[in-house]
Amino acid sequence: LVSFRGVQKTYDGDTLVVKGLDLDIARGEFLTLLGPSGSGKTTCLMMLAGFEQPTAGDILLDGDPITALPPHKRDIGMVFQNYALFPHMTVAENLAFPLRVRGMDKGEIDRKVADALAMVELDEFGGRRPAQLSGGQQQRVAVARALVFEPKLVLMDEPLGALDRLLREQMQVEIKHLHETLGITIVYVTHDQGEALTMSDRIAVFNDGVIQQVAPPTELYERPQNSFVASFIGDSN
Ligand code: ATP
Repeated sequence: LVSFRGVQKTYDGDTLVVKGLDLDIARGEFLTLLGPSGSGKTTCLMMLAGFEQPTAGDILLDGDPITALPPHKRDIGMVFQNYALFPHMTVAENLAFPLRVRGMDKGEIDRKVADALAMVELDEFGGRRPAQLSGGQQQRVAVARALVFEPKLVLMDEPLGALDRLLREQMQVEIKHLHETLGITIVYVTHDQGEALTMSDRIAVFNDGVIQQVAPPTELYERPQNSFVASFIGDSN
């Protein structure tokens, strides 16, 4: 579905923060970018989302360069750590927003919003504003909003970072369940080894702007390709 081809990124014209990335992401895959803070994971998502342009190389979506497409034409859903729900809108209006900007008619919007609320078990909460919800409920709305327009691809950047451990674990199960039932492609960013190991089909281990290894969790664990991967994955114990 997505291919990074020799992608490089520098912010100040000097230091490369992504150093020649080659990566293929299959349709329906749950791929996690895992690595320490500052290793370039978020920058990769920002380039996919269209908020940053690669300094060199190409990113292909279904074989076409997406670098020429503006963010709103990319058919990509996004969930970030700070949720970014619209505070002045109700939960239902937040969910309707991505459908309205796509020009869908009102009846269809109402139906899809109801389905999305049911999907994250917030049927009773459509009329509330974000401030009237718990952190976990807000995050479920953010997940529902990223999925409601049935995007080709969903990007999640540390989406559970602000939640306590119990809620994190519940949300991990929920996101994984949605991934399996909807068959969507998810690119997920975290620096939490445990989270990556439980959720992912494959993990790309980042360090210093370079992918050290891309493999399913068990393979990373059993056959780390170098000492960085071995010690970083080993830290999850
Ligand atoms: P974290 O887990 O802390 O978010 P990360 O792996 O996602 O880290 P990035 O956010 O991609 O890393 O950052 C990679 C490098 O690029 C860092 O050194 C960071 O300081 C730098 N950087 C990120 N965004 C910008 C920006 N807008 N302008 C300048 N430098 C930036």
